[in-house]
Amino acid sequence: MQRLSSYVQGAWVEGTGTGVDLHDPTSEEAIAACDSTGVDFAAVVEHARTLGGPALRALSFPARGQLLKRISAAIHEQREELISVATANGGCTRGDAKFDIDGATGTLAAYAYFSRDLGERPHIADGGPMPLGRTPRFSGQHVWVPRTGVAVHINAFNFPSWGMLEKMACAILAGVPVIEKPGTSTALLAWRVARIIVDAEILPEGAFQFLCGSVGDLLDHLGAQDCLAFTGSAATGTLLKGNENLVRSNVRVNIEADSLNAAVLAPDVDEECETYGLFLANVALDMTQKTGQKCTAVRRILVPAERVQSVTTDLVAELARVRVGDPSERETRMGPLSSRAQWEDVVAGIGRLEEVADVACGGIESPCERGWFVAPTLFVARDREAPILHSEEVFGPVATILPYGGTADEAVELVCRGGGGLVCSVYSNDADWTESAVRGLAPWHGRVWIGSDRTAGQSLPPGMVLPGMVHGGPGRAGGGEELGGLRGLELYMQRTALQGFLGLLESRFGAPMEEPAGAGPEPA
Ligand code: NAP
Repeated sequence: MQRLSSYVQGAWVEGTGTGVDLHDPTSEEAIAACDSTGVDFAAVVEHARTLGGPALRALSFPARGQLLKRISAAIHEQREELISVATANGGCTRGDAKFDIDGATGTLAAYAYFSRDLGERPHIADGGPMPLGRTPRFSGQHVWVPRTGVAVHINAFNFPSWGMLEKMACAILAGVPVIEKPGTSTALLAWRVARIIVDAEILPEGAFQFLCGSVGDLLDHLGAQDCLAFTGSAATGTLLKGNENLVRSNVRVNIEADSLNAAVLAPDVDEECETYGLFLANVALDMTQKTGQKCTAVRRILVPAERVQSVTTDLVAELARVRVGDPSERETRMGPLSSRAQWEDVVAGIGRLEEVADVACGGIESPCERGWFVAPTLFVARDREAPILHSEEVFGPVATILPYGGTADEAVELVCRGGGGLVCSVYSNDADWTESAVRGLAPWHGRVWIGSDRTAGQSLPPGMVLPGMVHGGPGRAGGGEELGGLRGLELYMQRTALQGFLGLLESRFGAPMEEPAGAGPEPA
């Protein structure tokens, strides 16, 4: 069986322990093992700080952008092989695998593009000079400068490729070396991508290191210039955020955690509206894409009470069209969950939801004889107030319809019981209703997606995270923020207020002449 190694201090190193087995979730066979026992984590951090960081910072932003573009191309060249790896170790259909892999290469290319106007200077000017004294002679200027530490990225199992590379794109462009750790159960794809990155010899030594297995005592070696970006469950996020060294040294921590994303159907959207078709298609896609193992997947569906029956019938019909089975077959639209642990969690979650909601389709019965499959499962809440509906994320193809009275205020109140989310989608052609809903939802969400007849033929689905738009959310969603164009670089940079002679500030620390005003990260 293949043993996955870690790339540390310039070499591929196999762990010395027995490791954890990785499986094909369709056949349930073990296909690889992952282990980082024996890695000297302090040395890994030092290698990044002393070699990777200085080498990256010696390059301009556009030059680092070019590195990202070349990495994107190198990965894209191996796309077909990577798709089969995602199927073998993640249970991904071809469409799901492309979502992860093309999402990664697309994000790298987007960050290469975002770098184009940043100029040759090693900083990004944040706004223009501000007079501070009696005359403008003594002025102030905010700048963003790369921090001199290392970025540790701990990723979730569900996007081994995109999850790793969207974080890496921002860090490398900012000039900060990365140490990447994928979720173990699906690490084969991340490992294969890491091999492509290392073999391509595009990045300077020390800019990219890759840990396959546990991170050991890595976090204990981080300091004031370093950061941790974590994606995963709220429970692990809370544990890591509380790490004594991270707290003591004020290490920056960004958490992307789980979220009970909602889709809200407004009362004005009847069966004849294009928006209704969009709502049905998006909800079904969100529930079943990546077998529902998507942080942005819809978990709660708010429907005006008098429409619950007809919407349930239509959604069940939509879900019945999703062919579940072997993900390597082209006609399959939904594969298995990606590990036994995931399957056990989801089946247990479905059991708990059954206590407060009626099954409209699906349930705990597996649709296949072998493999970690569940059917698309739609519930209708018996009691929309039941706390579990607003607190438990069942991380699979599972969602619940909640009846509501139809007012924007009531929808907002119910949705916000989720305690903070990544995305909420609203479907309406009524501008007043939409405005009220958006104003109530926005403080509790990183993203609000608005569907209407005006965009029905053109919109991208709400579950899709775009490099130019922020990703993250308050409260339960982790309180973090990633991407959003150049805003995504902020985690890796220091904003410093410079005060002094205007002539010096303008000539040495202002925006380059060719840079459009305000191109730097937005003030937080
Ligand atoms: P998880 O169990 O919390 O694991 C996430 C990562 O943390 C994995 O790499 C895991 O490594 C690592 N980890 C676990 N315990 C650790 C510890 N004590 N010290 C250091 N690292 C540790 O989450 P998951 O099951 O992989 O992912 C599913 C969850 O992620 C869902 O709740 C989903 O909503 C959330 N998610 C959120 C986003 C977002 O952007 N907000 C995106 C994707 C997923 P091992 O795999 O080796 O245990």
